[in-house]
Amino acid sequence: MPQVSLRFYEELNDFLPGSLRKRTFEKEFTGTQSVKHLIENLGVPHTEVEIILVNGQSVDLSYPLQEGDRISVYPMFELLDISPLLHLRIKPMRDPRFIADAHLGKLSRYLRLLGFDCLFFNDAGDSNLARLSVEQGRVLLTRDRGLLIRRNITHGCFIHATEPRQQLMEIVQRLQLEDMYNPFTRCMECNSQLTTVEKKRIEDELPDPVRQHYNDFWRCSECGRIYWKGSHYRELRAFIDSLILPVTKQ
Ligand SMILES: [Zn+2]
Repeated sequence: MPQVSLRFYEELNDFLPGSLRKRTFEKEFTGTQSVKHLIENLGVPHTEVEIILVNGQSVDLSYPLQEGDRISVYPMFELLDISPLLHLRIKPMRDPRFIADAHLGKLSRYLRLLGFDCLFFNDAGDSNLARLSVEQGRVLLTRDRGLLIRRNITHGCFIHATEPRQQLMEIVQRLQLEDMYNPFTRCMECNSQLTTVEKKRIEDELPDPVRQHYNDFWRCSECGRIYWKGSHYRELRAFIDSLILPVTKQ
């Protein structure tokens, strides 16, 4: 049976069985098989792969395997200049939009806080998530690699971190979102846009201390929730600033 040799780099190793990590190994294949098929059979979602080199040349996911190929598989590079190589996806996205899997509710709220459009449902189901991702051009965020492998998804992002703030950092750095923040413009509850609203129009809906101390208000165009720059705002502002620092320090 024909064979190829493979090596996966950096965090792509997390998806492999322990015995195959960080080393070159041989793999047999049958018939006409694409490099995408082989990579996903090993458990690595194609959405996590940025560059594939076969015998030193960059190829796309549809490349048909040939006997004796030497295959190197790379995730997104943060610092190296690899522009001459063929990237599997166009980055950075100009207007990234997201849809988050059911276990990423808190991450969705954080993305909305930064102004990003992020759909989230408690019970959408895998097929609906995949369909909405494809139909609406949304990056599917999930910790379920089976979802990224199984469906015909073009824009997906496996989230390695388990803590929501770390998850947000991971996405910001991987998708280079730091110049695209537009904080406090989107409702954290329902994902709709916020608009400024005159105080006199909502005065009756405000708790007394808020009415006394604040004059600037925003309201969600969809769910009607009212926002102002109270103590919660200052906490969130500090949180956003803490996100920006590690990125700009590089
Ligand atoms: Zn809302």
